[in-house]
Amino acid sequence: MVDSVQAQIADFISLITTRNPNEPEFHQAVHEVACSVIPFMEDKPEYREARILERIAEPDRIVSFRVSWEDDQGRVQINRGYRVQNNNAIGPYKGGLRFTGDLKLSVLKFLAFEQTFKNSLTGLPMGGGKGGANFDPKGKSDREVMRFCQSFMTQLFRYIGRHTDVPAGDIGVGAREVSFLFSQYKRLTNEFAGVLTGKGLSFGGSQVRTEATGYGTVYFMEDMLHTRNQALEGKIALVSGSGNVAQYAIEKLLHKGARVVTASDSGGFIHDPAGITPERLAWIKELKNKRRGRISEYADEFNVPYFPGERPWRVPCDVALPCATQNEIHRKDAIALCENGCMSVAEGANMPTTNDGIDIFHESGMLYGPGKAANAGGVAISGLEMSQNAMHLSWSAEELNERLRNIMTNIHEKCREYGEERDRIDYVKGANIGGFVKVADAMLAYGIH
Ligand code: NDP
Repeated sequence: MVDSVQAQIADFISLITTRNPNEPEFHQAVHEVACSVIPFMEDKPEYREARILERIAEPDRIVSFRVSWEDDQGRVQINRGYRVQNNNAIGPYKGGLRFTGDLKLSVLKFLAFEQTFKNSLTGLPMGGGKGGANFDPKGKSDREVMRFCQSFMTQLFRYIGRHTDVPAGDIGVGAREVSFLFSQYKRLTNEFAGVLTGKGLSFGGSQVRTEATGYGTVYFMEDMLHTRNQALEGKIALVSGSGNVAQYAIEKLLHKGARVVTASDSGGFIHDPAGITPERLAWIKELKNKRRGRISEYADEFNVPYFPGERPWRVPCDVALPCATQNEIHRKDAIALCENGCMSVAEGANMPTTNDGIDIFHESGMLYGPGKAANAGGVAISGLEMSQNAMHLSWSAEELNERLRNIMTNIHEKCREYGEERDRIDYVKGANIGGFVKVADAMLAYGIH
């Protein structure tokens, strides 16, 4: 039986790699899910016969388009934009837009696939999608970013809509970019609609959306620690990244009494052994959100060490929250974390740990919360932004924070429901199966298409 399941997983992965050549990130994400869902389907012939997992692993639709724009020197620039609409069985496609210079379709396909399970886990009616462009806002003027966003939306608008597909931010797409994108959609359609989330509070945005992913990741870690009668108070925490998710993960860790000793960006990481204070966090927000500077400047400002080209995982800690990007914790980093005493990892980023790194966490008995569960708070509040827009009202920050707290606990419980084993909770299995079942049941009901 075990051999037959392993053979089925191998056959499935071989099918996926043959059908999607040269897409390693997509293969990685599908492999991780297949290892949970294929064994689960052993006594669920209805899912197997309807080939539900194969169908979820084939996006409903992918669009790709040219984005031409003019830079500040009057030169013509050309980038490529995408939207991957992975699955809308349980609601409109929903997922962020990523602007990075090296963006590949493989990355967007993995993100859209993951998003399908994550959105299902929130309990809200949202399908999975993702999009973006091989455009790097770093080093561009505000006007260049504006012209790029206007051109990007001039293509994208025909594929999205408040009942069809509702994008949001992701790496390289923050409040500034969402504002430019939303305004162009409004201009093109003559419609003020909740077609993007993460909007400014004065034009349909939701309280707590900015904070939601980082806060939610910390809440999820808190729930994991509670299963071992542990709390965040007094714990030494490693955080990677210094963007939206990292900033609010650090903020909530400080609220909970943890000592956060690292932050990073694509250039390297800083180590502040005394701990990032609220004042220093405010300085990071100013640096990253307004001045758009580099984290190395923190080291100069506060006289702490900076490690160019490195990631923080060799610093001794109690807990770690990767909040930068995919594949930032490799096997050797996972081993270093375990050897240095880390007891829990909650992923603010999407797929920051490689599959062999996850194996190390599992073998060590670490509390490991994968991104599709731990960072689902952002899209959950985006779902509530859609509800508020549809009802033409706004809920208070207190109400939304309470809803976020409850949603994260519900996701934790869903992971426990499907991932509880004799002596531990396998959060990867719990999140994958918990996310899969609702989507699969809807697809079964729809028949074959
Ligand atoms: P931001 O653009 O605000 O910040 C990204 C951070 O990661 C920056 O510090 C950036 O450094 C760093 N980074 C980007 N690429 C790399 C790289 N190749 N190596 C090392 N560091 C890198 O993005 P977010 O904070 O929104 O997103 C961070 C992660 O969280 C992503 O994986 C995203 O998919 C995930 N996520 C985000 C959600 C959200 O609500 N925003 C929701 C759920 C998940 P630099 O400034 O040098 O580029």
